[in-house]
Amino acid sequence: MSVTAGVIAVQGDVSEHAQAIRRAGETHGRTVEVVEIRQSGLVPECDLLLVPGGESTAISRLAHQEGIVDEMRDHVVAGRPVLATCAGLIFLSRDSGDERVETLDLLDVTVERNAFGRQRDSFEAPLPVRGFDDPFPAVFIRAPVVDSVGESVEVLAEWDDRPVAVRQDNILATAFHPELREDPRIHELAFFG
Ligand code: GLN
Repeated sequence: MSVTAGVIAVQGDVSEHAQAIRRAGETHGRTVEVVEIRQSGLVPECDLLLVPGGESTAISRLAHQEGIVDEMRDHVVAGRPVLATCAGLIFLSRDSGDERVETLDLLDVTVERNAFGRQRDSFEAPLPVRGFDDPFPAVFIRAPVVDSVGESVEVLAEWDDRPVAVRQDNILATAFHPELREDPRIHELAFFG
């Protein structure tokens, strides 16, 4: 069976997500057709949606400008799955603590951007994730952390005692970049779990 995966492609690491979702589909016997979304009218054709990392101020500005945000909301309300990573997590949150990011308020969390500071700007860590037998090789790049979660949000992983992977219904969001390692488990969990 084939599925259509939309990758929000206004800015950020789009091709890595496209590859990761194809890989995850393969292991589940699914052919994945990837659609890169830079304008309105495409999200409604997608079974699932990926919101990549990048720069949340730019992603927010361009997604609003291109008229994609209402379609993203409809996708979530319809119960279709979404994986949001890093800047994507910031964009979907209730509040980013930065007025330059007009968040979608689809995920009931508040976040702190660039929370690991300069010294640990980017790093990789073996991250225990709820439900995984082995730690996930998590790549953090100027990553946010979640600093408060609503009642309907489940925390799946923490680093330094702060949530870095969360799930709320059909949305899975990570502060790290699962698309940068050839480990399909996060994409599988979001879409084929
Ligand atoms: N620091 C970026 C932001 O705040 C996120 C970084 C990333 O997506 N790797 O938007």
